[in-house]
Amino acid sequence: MFFILIKKSKCALRTKLKCAICSENVSMRYNPMEEWSIDGVLCGDCYSKKLSEYYPGIHKQINKK
Ligand SMILES: [Zn+2]
Repeated sequence: MFFILIKKSKCALRTKLKCAICSENVSMRYNPMEEWSIDGVLCGDCYSKKLSEYYPGIHKQINKK
C-alpha cells in the first residue's frame, strides 16, 4: 500500500515543467490564455502577473494591502 503511493507520486514528479516566462520549475501549472501567445505553461507568479497586466481590474481586489 505504502509503496504504491510512493510510485504514484514519483510518476507525477517526472512530468517536470518549466515556466515559459521565468523558467522556474512549475509545481502547480497554469495554462496561459490564448491571447497572451505564450507557448508552454506558467508558474503561479507569472500567471498572476500576466493576469494583472491583461486584466488590471481582476487583481485589484486580491492585491489589497
Ligand atoms: Zn514563472
